[in-house]
Amino acid sequence: MKRLWQRGMIALARSSAVKDFMQGRDGMRKLAQRFVAGPDVASAFATAERLLDEKGIRTSFYYLGEYVDRLELVQENVDQKLAIAARLADADLDVHISVDPTQIGLQTDAEQVGPRARSIGRAIALASGGKPGLHCLMLDMEDASVVDVTLALHDDLRRLELPAAVTLQAYLRRTEGDLIRLIAAGAKARLVKGAFVGAKHVAFATEPEIKANYRKLVALMLSEEARESGFYPIIATHDDRIQAEALALARENGWPQSTYEFEMLLGVRSDVAEALAQQGERVRLYVPFGRDWWPYAIRRIGENPANGVLLARSLLARR
Ligand SMILES: Cc1cc2nc3c(=O)[nH]c(=O)nc-3n(C[C@H](O)[C@H](O)[C@H](O)COP(=O)(O)OP(=O)(O)OC[C@H]3O[C@@H](n4cnc5c(N)ncnc54)[C@H](O)[C@@H]3O)c2cc1C
Repeated sequence: MKRLWQRGMIALARSSAVKDFMQGRDGMRKLAQRFVAGPDVASAFATAERLLDEKGIRTSFYYLGEYVDRLELVQENVDQKLAIAARLADADLDVHISVDPTQIGLQTDAEQVGPRARSIGRAIALASGGKPGLHCLMLDMEDASVVDVTLALHDDLRRLELPAAVTLQAYLRRTEGDLIRLIAAGAKARLVKGAFVGAKHVAFATEPEIKANYRKLVALMLSEEARESGFYPIIATHDDRIQAEALALARENGWPQSTYEFEMLLGVRSDVAEALAQQGERVRLYVPFGRDWWPYAIRRIGENPANGVLLARSLLARR
């Protein structure tokens, strides 16, 4: 049932007619505000500063817009990420800047994706002023067809000693192998369940299978071997049981609190994020901003059928 609801919402996310209609409706603003910081870099920074000052929670910035197939939009995406990096030098924050390879040209001029990622990486390195571990370029992971290219991009950035991390998805069968390699390299990786559906031979299809694989991968990420190799684990889930298991593993295997972190999405189970931060855990929220908010917000609605109420209320609201 949940998978069916999610597929329906993914279809809505991909329809440009639905997107234009929804983004133009006054009543939908509330829905956008729940999951998105605002339209521009200034609103994104205001949210990040508020989260850090009031809750002790860090930020991952994400400029909305994915699967971009026009060069002027690719340029806009790159400019927005550079604008964040430029502003970071004067801000007292510790942020990740999320980048989807299709945002920076994978579908338009793939040979330019590497140079664009490097220029964003260099701008972030400059903003960190040489402080290791502060700020990084986080590569988001899209559908199964772009995993190799995304991992290669990550390896290239690291080879150039630019601050980079990558997202891995537990729904993919290959992820265990990818993770073992990243652990041995002492990389920084974020583990998610995966917001896509894949063919049976490449992906786990059912929720219990995906969850079981997620747990198995968390155990690898928080193993003693991973700690000794300098690996930095980011556990990105809203599942509080898995978070509690991760915390137990971290303690058991001698991970100090600031050597791993939890990441969640703005507007989703904020009480859980705040409780972790209050226990002294390092917590980061994924903070999207930009005008193109519909595909992102409707996928969040898809992750929990209970969010259908929020969608229905927004549709019925006049303003
Ligand atoms: C920081 C971050 C970055 C991500 N980056 C990527 C990426 O690069 N690529 C990718 O494929 N996916 C990404 N995702 C999405 C991820 O793959 C999952 O689809 C999503 O996080 C839901 O899985 P879950 O593990 O949080 O929990 P679930 O098992 O889906 O849910 C756990 C609990 O949280 C609740 N919950 C979960 N989502 C919502 C919601 N939207 N609203 C209300 N309650 C909710 C559930 O109802 C349940 O109680 C990212 C997620 C996070 C948190």
